Amino acid sequence: GSEVDVEGDLTIDEDAAEDDLLGGLRIDSTADIEVPERLVDQVIGQEEAREIVKRAAKQHRHVMMIGSPGTGKSMLAKAMSRLLPQESLQDVLVYHNPDDSNEPRVRTVPAGKGDQIVEAHQEEAQKRKQMRSFLMWIVIAIIVGYAILIAGQVLLGLLAAGVIYFAFRYTNRGTDAMVPKLLVNNGERSIAPFEDATGAHAGALLGDVRHDPFQSGGMETPSHERVEAGSIQKAHKGVLFIDEINTLDIRSQQKLMTAIQEGEFSITGQSERSSGAMVQTEPVPCDFIMVAAGNMDAMENMHPALRDRLKGYGYEVYMEDSIDETPTTRRQYARFVAQEVEKDGRLPHFQPDAVREIILEAKRRSGRKGQLTLKLRDLGGLVRVAGDIAKAENAEFVEREHVLEAKKRSRSIEQQFADDYIERRKDYELKVNEGSAVGRVNGLAVMGGDSGIVLPVMAEVTPRQGEGGEVIATGQLKEMAMEAVQNVSAIIKKFSDEDISEKDIHVQFIQTQGVEGDSASITVATAVISALENIPIEQDLAMTGSLSVRGDVLPVGGVTHKIEAAAKAGYDRVIIPKANEQDVMIEEEYEEMIEIIPVSHISEVLDVALAGEPEKDSLVDRLKSITGQALEATEGT
Ligand code: ADP
Repeated sequence: GSEVDVEGDLTIDEDAAEDDLLGGLRIDSTADIEVPERLVDQVIGQEEAREIVKRAAKQHRHVMMIGSPGTGKSMLAKAMSRLLPQESLQDVLVYHNPDDSNEPRVRTVPAGKGDQIVEAHQEEAQKRKQMRSFLMWIVIAIIVGYAILIAGQVLLGLLAAGVIYFAFRYTNRGTDAMVPKLLVNNGERSIAPFEDATGAHAGALLGDVRHDPFQSGGMETPSHERVEAGSIQKAHKGVLFIDEINTLDIRSQQKLMTAIQEGEFSITGQSERSSGAMVQTEPVPCDFIMVAAGNMDAMENMHPALRDRLKGYGYEVYMEDSIDETPTTRRQYARFVAQEVEKDGRLPHFQPDAVREIILEAKRRSGRKGQLTLKLRDLGGLVRVAGDIAKAENAEFVEREHVLEAKKRSRSIEQQFADDYIERRKDYELKVNEGSAVGRVNGLAVMGGDSGIVLPVMAEVTPRQGEGGEVIATGQLKEMAMEAVQNVSAIIKKFSDEDISEKDIHVQFIQTQGVEGDSASITVATAVISALENIPIEQDLAMTGSLSVRGDVLPVGGVTHKIEAAAKAGYDRVIIPKANEQDVMIEEEYEEMIEIIPVSHISEVLDVALAGEPEKDSLVDRLKSITGQALEATEGT
């Protein structure tokens, strides 16, 4: 092949690039891959977000990032802080206010100066104390000397000495109060601050004044010493990142908004009944760039004024969940493995075949043909588990076998739950995957984003009880069930003698706990038709698909996981929408276990699913005849 030197010092075989999961990269291990120095260059995909972060850093604008967890939001926010100028960092000091001890003074000085100032004050205070205690001992010596030696009053002399001693101790406290507290210390810092305040309570976010149990009587701690900086003050001249912004309580969101508007914010005790609540400092500077993040819902639930504020003074950007798979992006995923290994610091590097297995997983997890997942936090987890396995075996490199083992182990909690559940169900309902039953269909659903689960649906049709026929369904999938029945009733009207409006239809899902809102409408439709026509359904079969009013089977999400779940649960056949055929990326071990049947019309579903020959055939024939398109779609098969 033609060997061209393209990326750094790495050799890329351009001829092999198209077919190779590594995109033609010729490496001995990921140790050969150079990790970019700048964090922003380490980000994979997220082209738009990266551009916006660079621009916003230059223009000092806020950013709102909307997208799935683990796609690089906090990574980008951190990268942004490193793009900010470093020259203007400051230290913040709080001083005792002799006029009003409940309003400590605030001063800013160039970074590094704060420490020096505090030290100078401490030395000064120390000197004064020494001077004072020297004076004190002289006074004590004179008085005690006089009392004992001249007046002969031992007891009185000792008493006087004690009084003088404590009087000095007490007034020494004034000397302590002279020393300011270094509230924000940027002395050691060479890059702009990055503060992650995700999930922070009000005090941690906005600053706080600690409670003082001894509020008077000379035992109290000077109020300025009890002042603590919050994330907003620490983020001064840097980046404040808050993920899941909507979970921040409304009052804190309001205060955050004020802080953004004013560029400074006084620190006060955040718990109302604490003595700290009496103290309020002069304003502390907090001129930060805000990066707020969350998923779509989070954005809708956040304080509208805060959202407007951020929008008006910044950018809004959507994070991608996946990226086109090309030789270039595949090579970037190899670099991702190198990055994660180096970031961890303890893991062995990966051999090429081990990297290929990771990239294969990225393909699978995207759930779409020609795409790689950008949910890279989870993929990074897989890299670490594989690395740990290799390390436990004292292997020099992570090999393909280690990654395969890791895939088995790093299943999500939901997947483990689903597997467990399948195991249990196999024990309880032995006949679930054989024989036939009226009104019972094995549907498939997704749990926790990346686990499939079998979700049986039962339908029963009874003469109507009330005015018009009713659809009775329970649980969180109720709406989906209603919609499915509505769609199917339009179809049923055309071919069936049964009048659905004269009936009550009961739809029951056997287990919906943890199931994500799913479009299982062909499942519901098939169950209802079976119940209505009293034709049994084959139980060695599971299905997934969405249904249109015209009877077309529409694509759904998560087919790969669903098929694997069906195979694991012991089903022989699985029906999927034809439009999803290209999304199927099941692991090899399942390919032998299950037959995949792609369909595009409900008539095909029934053709496969219904048992009991003569009734079934006539029903399917009637169904086929109701739409021209359906005829076309099924003629070929
Ligand atoms: P989010 O804030 O979106 O939940 P993070 O930025 O915290 O996700 O991502 C967690 C980790 O996953 C990162 O530290 C990094 O190792 C990896 N990661 C996530 N997204 C990307 C990406 N787009 N490019 C490279 N690494 C990523």
